[in-house]
Amino acid sequence: MNAGYSSIQGIGMTSARTRDRLVHRLREQGIQSPEVLARIRNVPRHLFVDEALASRAYEDTALPIGMGQTISQPYVVARMTEALLARIPGGKVLEIGTGCGYQTAVLAPLVKEIFTVERIPELLRKTRQRLRELDIYNVRFRRGDGWEGWPKYAPYDGILVAAAARELPRKLLEQLAPGGVLIIPVGPERLQDLVVVTRTNDHYEQQSLGAVSFVPLVPGA
Ligand code: SAH
Repeated sequence: MNAGYSSIQGIGMTSARTRDRLVHRLREQGIQSPEVLARIRNVPRHLFVDEALASRAYEDTALPIGMGQTISQPYVVARMTEALLARIPGGKVLEIGTGCGYQTAVLAPLVKEIFTVERIPELLRKTRQRLRELDIYNVRFRRGDGWEGWPKYAPYDGILVAAAARELPRKLLEQLAPGGVLIIPVGPERLQDLVVVTRTNDHYEQQSLGAVSFVPLVPGA
């Protein structure tokens, strides 16, 4: 096969080598978990973005997915997933901000069940179908406001929020199981602190994982 043919077919853009390069880069940046790195290698990120952007799908950057939203940067997805699994291996997870479902797909086989909440119905509809096509079945979807969580299935061992909140959402803290963790970007637009809150029996402990930049967690959506 010559190079011209493979680039026309798009094979070059999504090849094993391209994916290996991304995994290598994440490892250099400190991601260590073999299971997380294997998911980054195996989840076909080019299927989560528009065809026009498929050639950039294995770059370590956020990309637009329409409706003013983005697919998260692979490093950030890996970091959040690794931080979650280090504290609650397996378990029941609430995800806020489903978007295109990339984070959901990376995490799904590594936990028991994911409950995911998204405010934009059109994104949710496409994501539901996409995850089914990828044979991911341990995910329940809900159209709703992430600030409210999903009380029906609470408490959760882990809660992952993929949009930036001005402050810690009280209802998410309430929906954490004892020993559970909430991972959430907190702060103003453009630059936030990625915060890990651990619920013990009688209080909450807070820790920072560093600076991140997420789209806002829209209030009262
Ligand atoms: N998890 C995605 C990235 C999501 S971007 C990935 O893996 O790429 C953030 C998402 O949060 C967007 O889809 C946005 O519509 C959603 N969102 C923003 N505010 C929300 C709210 N209050 N409730 C639920 N979803 C919200």
